[in-house]
Amino acid sequence: MDTMTELLYLKDSYQTEFLATITDQWLDPKKGYVVTLDRTAFYPTGGGQPHDIGTLNGVPVHSVEWVDDQVHHYVDSPIKENVVQGMIDWEHRFDLMQQHTGQHVMAAILKRMYDIDMEGFDIGDVTVTIDLKTKPLSNDQLFKIEQLANTIILKNEPIRATIVQPNALEAFDLVHDITREGDVRIVSIESFDDTPCGGTHLSSTGELQVIKLLGTERISGGARLSFVCGRRAVSHYALQHARIENFARLLETSDERIEGKLHRWKKERVEREKEIEQLKEQLLTYEATELWDGSGTVVRGFTERSIHELKALATILTKTHPHALVSLFTMNGSNVQLLATRGADHPLNLRDIASDFFGVCNGRGGGSPTFIQGAGTSEETIETLERNIASVLSSQRVLV
Ligand SMILES: [Zn+2]
Repeated sequence: MDTMTELLYLKDSYQTEFLATITDQWLDPKKGYVVTLDRTAFYPTGGGQPHDIGTLNGVPVHSVEWVDDQVHHYVDSPIKENVVQGMIDWEHRFDLMQQHTGQHVMAAILKRMYDIDMEGFDIGDVTVTIDLKTKPLSNDQLFKIEQLANTIILKNEPIRATIVQPNALEAFDLVHDITREGDVRIVSIESFDDTPCGGTHLSSTGELQVIKLLGTERISGGARLSFVCGRRAVSHYALQHARIENFARLLETSDERIEGKLHRWKKERVEREKEIEQLKEQLLTYEATELWDGSGTVVRGFTERSIHELKALATILTKTHPHALVSLFTMNGSNVQLLATRGADHPLNLRDIASDFFGVCNGRGGGSPTFIQGAGTSEETIETLERNIASVLSSQRVLV
């Protein structure tokens, strides 16, 4: 990129302090104070890597962006002096160098070992993701990729950035042709990768410490791989370890026994749920016996009961008494849910009475000749609704 600003980070990623002259300074109505310099060590957002943060003469630099081939430093307040001392937040820069270099290692393994192309990458606040043109990766592949990445770290291979003229590119082992004109900056991991890149990198793979793959998910046309490198990976292990210890404490067991205990609990829960279902069924059977007065018709309203439970209750009644005609409903405030059903030997087609039936609560519903269900609203008491429903059912019985 042609720019008047000398980019110090391209020569030395480890430079955290520099002196520069302010070439321009203005107030952007939306973004605040903007400063341009004759030279800078601040990396501006680009190529998947976030910008550096730091200070210029003690004034915080909260953002750094490329705008029209210029590096814009966004600062909290105007700077009075012409010459500034820039300070890069090293913790932040080193973290980005670890994540970015890790991305080079991962992309190289995926391309060179598995012939998988990278579509893009993103260094987030928590994880690094790379988007790949591939089918989902198997656990076995992921395990091997992680092993290989960590072997490359252990080899502590030098990483160098070289500015190369187009006619000298043949000496490098590039996996893709370079189409743009002019000099190219090639970042090389000694024994196994050369990649064109303008980012900030570590000087050896050993400084990566460790790479931990976190998972893979399907995205349109490929897969997204998440991982963390270096200190982020160390923090990840520490956090996971603390979580497991906490689980063990909560479950009153040891780390190694958590899984066994959870499996047992899951099995027990399924058995208990089955038991509860059976007990509910028994209770409903008991309730059905209580509701049956021998008259052949049961109309009963309840407050805040599940309509599914009432359906089960009605089914027990009609199975036990094939001549029965049953209507149950539940009220929640003025909301009414209601159903009617009949035994196999009762001749009534419930669809014939549906409109009168749901009419008692200005409701709507539908169903089959043997079962109708719906909902409406009513300001009447449960007793009045019971009487009104009984009246609809008995008037129809006369017709039958
Ligand atoms: Zn890079």
